[in-house]
Amino acid sequence: MAYLSLRAINKIYPNGFHAVHNFNLNIEKGEFIVFVGPSGCGKSTTLRMIAGLEDISNGEFLINGQRANEWGPQQRQVAMVFQSYALYPQMTVYDNIAFGLTLMGVDEEEIDARVKKTAGILGLTDYLDRLPRALSGGQRQRVAIGRAIIRKVGIFLMDEPLSNLDAKQRVTMRAEIAQIHRQTGATTIYVTHDQTEAMTLADRIVIMKDGYVQQIGTPYDVYFHPRNVFVAGFIGEPPMNFMTLPVENGAVTLNGAKIDLSRVLPDKIGSYNGKPIVFGFRPEAVSLGEKENAYHITGQVELTEMLGDNANVYMNIGDKRAILKVTPHEIPATDQQLTFSVPYESVYLFDAESEKVLTEYKDK
Ligand code: ATP
Repeated sequence: MAYLSLRAINKIYPNGFHAVHNFNLNIEKGEFIVFVGPSGCGKSTTLRMIAGLEDISNGEFLINGQRANEWGPQQRQVAMVFQSYALYPQMTVYDNIAFGLTLMGVDEEEIDARVKKTAGILGLTDYLDRLPRALSGGQRQRVAIGRAIIRKVGIFLMDEPLSNLDAKQRVTMRAEIAQIHRQTGATTIYVTHDQTEAMTLADRIVIMKDGYVQQIGTPYDVYFHPRNVFVAGFIGEPPMNFMTLPVENGAVTLNGAKIDLSRVLPDKIGSYNGKPIVFGFRPEAVSLGEKENAYHITGQVELTEMLGDNANVYMNIGDKRAILKVTPHEIPATDQQLTFSVPYESVYLFDAESEKVLTEYKDK
């Protein structure tokens, strides 16, 4: 197991494109870190710099406290699983898993013991004699993971390993990856654009946008304490509702109703008079009707979506829109007027220009 440090890491590609800016992160032994962000945000580039597949333009990368910028992939002791699992089609599952050890000249008895142990961890014991074409997508991806974990390396890197699987297989494999991590304890860095994968797998999530780290934190932290509009909108499904509204006398007006923001931002709201502010709340934070210690907002139901365990309600609130998450037993009729409550402690305010959060961190 290894611990890693990324200190002011930058990547500037030969064509001059600056793909990663000042990336700073210490990763502890055995930690499961997920890099998440939209396409092109620099997560694969960062992973490839850690793997030694891409030069680090500047900054310092340390493995177990030693500078590793100049080390090749072998010396770094990393194993990587890619999106395309690229198994050898003419080799059995057993030989695919054993391949790396065979190349390294490990003796046959040890290979046999390690293949069997790895197959046990991955639930592949009954498939060792099969060829990859006789496996499901999920089973193939498990073989690819087996090929990586059998090497007992200190760092385990995964780049979108589930993206070739269908939705059901992804959920199953996600749970399996979490379990493999518990069993192997390997320091793991996992790249995905899927916030659910990030939330369910990570000890800590690194959220990236346009080559910049936006926030690093536990799933709890990034959900409850987003630092800016981007993180607040990226984590959570459906995303947080945002409304940009002008502040007058410490209040905003929404669909004709006054919302006194001094309740949630007593000290700073004065400096926003005459300026716009971003008012945010999560769809799942609301309750229907007029509750205490909450803002009451009225709008018109535009559309509802019954999802089984809950339902989404799309609202028109004057010229603004919002999504509410309700239980399947309280789905309102389309077109009706509906009042809902947003508890004061569930309101997030952001500076409209910098997009930084203004409301204090609250533990819920
Ligand atoms: P995705 O989820 O689509 O894989 P990503 O977050 O992993 O996205 P990267 O692959 O790290 O993104 O790419 C980051 C940026 O760097 C992108 O804008 C990409 O076009 C650019 N980029 C990647 N490789 C090169 C290269 N060899 N030369 C120039 N620019 C590159």
